[in-house]
Amino acid sequence: MDPKNSRFSTQISHLALDIGGTLIKLVYFSPNGDNCEGGSIVVGNGCSVVQGRLCFAKFETRKIDDCLDFIRFNILQHSGVQHTNGTARDKLSVKATGGGAFKFADLFKEKLGIVFDKEDEMHSLVCGVNFLLKTVPREAFTYLDGQKEFVQIDHNDLYPYLLVNIGSGVSMIKVDGDGKYERISGTSLGGGTFLGLGKLLTNCKSFDELLELSHQGNNRVIDMLVGDIYGGTDYSKIGLSSTAIASSFGKAISDGKELEDYQPEDVARSLLRMISNNIGQIAYLNALRFGLKRIFFGGFFIRGLEYTMDTISVAVHFWSRGEAKAMFLRHEGFLGALGAFTSYKDQSHSTELKPHHHTVERAVLKCSDDDSFRHTPVTANVNDGEAIECSINLV
Ligand code: ADP
Repeated sequence: MDPKNSRFSTQISHLALDIGGTLIKLVYFSPNGDNCEGGSIVVGNGCSVVQGRLCFAKFETRKIDDCLDFIRFNILQHSGVQHTNGTARDKLSVKATGGGAFKFADLFKEKLGIVFDKEDEMHSLVCGVNFLLKTVPREAFTYLDGQKEFVQIDHNDLYPYLLVNIGSGVSMIKVDGDGKYERISGTSLGGGTFLGLGKLLTNCKSFDELLELSHQGNNRVIDMLVGDIYGGTDYSKIGLSSTAIASSFGKAISDGKELEDYQPEDVARSLLRMISNNIGQIAYLNALRFGLKRIFFGGFFIRGLEYTMDTISVAVHFWSRGEAKAMFLRHEGFLGALGAFTSYKDQSHSTELKPHHHTVERAVLKCSDDDSFRHTPVTANVNDGEAIECSINLV
């Protein structure tokens, strides 16, 4: 193992980044105890098995300086790397994926002395999902009619499946095995569209504000329903109920209202419904194309939001007549970063990751209890993910 890497990997270690169009996602391993020695066990083959947890953090890409500060103060400082005037002396190789791994490579090198070891974005997504489905218990779940149900994944019967990653844009990937996948479709109407249009239409300032608005709104105020066209009745001959949306935002045509006359809450609700419905339907059509019965949805657009998951599930259920199943992932937003992280194990000098099969705890509690994070100088969203208790083999 390279001595610089070794020093890095024995403290808060093995950082991987997924730098997307909207968000930067970080996954890093934090050994238990004050340092690596405290949490490591040397096993027969000369490897150190280090116990700790995978931690998750995210930053807005437009505020990349916050991310740089977070890494500088919370990760590099604790990895033993010295800084002179904010610039790292040592060069560290770190796994990175997403378009920003290219776009911001020079920035990370210049500001932190970090050199990106780039991993392909689709490959990382697929590796991240396979890792979660195979090793983290209670990772996948269905959400229908307000009921969340964890799905038992049979490792021998995992493939094929459709992965729908809803980030700024949407990618649909048919996965046939470890490293066997094909991007079969996508749509530009994704999380970026929801946030971008939402900002324009409601004047909200953030994704969280937009979600909060949508939570309080009623889409029927603006969406044209089947009942609006059929005088309150169903169009039963073709199986459309009176409450089905015939045309998203369709009522705005004839209401004689301006944008200001609508409540931002209702606009946000219609928008969320429109985007989620559309993705659910396109996902179903692609599953149908390839005879796939299981569809896993990931990406930060979902954010575990019940309304979003319910809309996607209903769309998949409705169009497939119950044949296909929409499933969601607890670590939905960190798939690419996790995939990049697991690629450390592909290097002979590096690590093998073995999550414990029983303990999964919330990152916010663990991280804020940890000395390493007590004097965090920048506000980071370290509490957004869920830490995974695990051990890694340091060869
Ligand atoms: P990308 O890799 O393209 O950045 P992500 O999977 O990170 O994609 O998802 C980005 C999308 O997640 C945004 O377009 C937005 O819809 C949603 N999102 C969730 N949380 C936030 C947030 N805090 N700030 C901005 N967008 C967010």
